Amino acid sequence: MTSNIKYMSGVKGLKDIDVDGQRVLIRVDFNVPVDSHNNISDDRRIRLALPTINYCIDHNAKSIVLVTHFGRPKGSFNEKYSLVHIKKRLERLLERKVEFIKDLESSKDIVCASSSQEIFLLENIRFHEGEKQNDKGLSKKLASLCDLYVNDAFGTSHRKHASTHGITEFVDTKVAGFLMMREIEAFSKALEDPVRPIALVIGGAKISSKITLLEAVLQKVDKLIIGGAMSNTFLKAQGYDMQKSLYEEDFVSTAANVLQEAKKFGVKVYLPVDVVITDSIEKPINVRVVPAQDILEGFMAVDIGPATLKLFTQAVELSNTIIWNGPMGIYEIDNFSKGTFKLASAIADCYAYTIVGGGDTADAVDKCGESDNFSFISTGGGASLELLEGKILPGFKNLNRVVE
Ligand code: ADP
Ligand code: MG
Repeated sequence: MTSNIKYMSGVKGLKDIDVDGQRVLIRVDFNVPVDSHNNISDDRRIRLALPTINYCIDHNAKSIVLVTHFGRPKGSFNEKYSLVHIKKRLERLLERKVEFIKDLESSKDIVCASSSQEIFLLENIRFHEGEKQNDKGLSKKLASLCDLYVNDAFGTSHRKHASTHGITEFVDTKVAGFLMMREIEAFSKALEDPVRPIALVIGGAKISSKITLLEAVLQKVDKLIIGGAMSNTFLKAQGYDMQKSLYEEDFVSTAANVLQEAKKFGVKVYLPVDVVITDSIEKPINVRVVPAQDILEGFMAVDIGPATLKLFTQAVELSNTIIWNGPMGIYEIDNFSKGTFKLASAIADCYAYTIVGGGDTADAVDKCGESDNFSFISTGGGASLELLEGKILPGFKNLNRVVE
């Protein structure tokens, strides 16, 4: 059986089709981080979509409609999640005017009316309830805007939504963009015939969505290194009193199961032996390092401790492929950022193939100035973990294949 990665790298790319004179719709992922004033704090995701957009411009596409989601609006208009700011940044990066389409209902008339090449940005697609429901009506409407569909939204490709999946039912020519291809190539290097040992470093706070993947991942990796709030759930499963730490009670038994299964598959598991604790995240005055078994009453574990950092560093140093998803602590706060930042440097220094996935992990790596020292920084968190799990991502499933 061919692997999921091989299947996905077999899809057609932009270079396999002719875009000249065609109306193109590109699903991009402009879900960028913003600060409290709605200023874009990192436009990497927009910049990484430029090769695909520019290719369509240079190859005389008749019109280019860009579709993305941004934030988590609940299926209706919400000013906070409007793409107005994103349009401005996009115009600056492209050095071209971009027409903003606020209303999907009138979008077909607007797009069809264009005589010379125009670039359009459609308002946040998650303002429509049908997007997440993979609704047929919405998929058809989007399909009516194009002759060609290009999916370049790797970060969203594990979602079966109208603009990432449903639309493919109603368009004949559908291909992957350059970013999608780059991502698959990078993961293919790590997962298809990887240089072993292969280590997965997992952390962060999205415990429920990540922990269920770990069972499947055990068949692929040699080492599982667990930190962050994720490890709190595992330490709880070991019987430790986690006090006020963030962990998920409902997944303690899943954690116990992962530990059991790891033994079965011969996967080495590394858990924190010491942790940084505090009784207040907002006012970090009482901050201590204690063994993971000795969390004080009313305190919470917010970072890995120095002994754990040493342990994890040695474990990654003895690996040849390292995939990292999820920070080791609350890295946004100085007092609790050491574990994440120091581990980032340790991984960056390894003579290994190193991949980072996950929005916050990529942000942490960037903040400590190590971005250039990793082999690849993925734009997908959930998507990259589902790749690891062995799934064919819905965003790739219905695209045309080089060999049908
Ligand atoms: P990613 O975006 O890289 O996939 P997640 O979204 O899963 O990562 O998790 C990132 C968040 O996890 C960060 O905001 C960080 O503050 C939080 N976090 C990490 N460790 C802890 C912890 N021990 N307690 C509470 N929050 C934590
Ligand atoms: Mg995150």
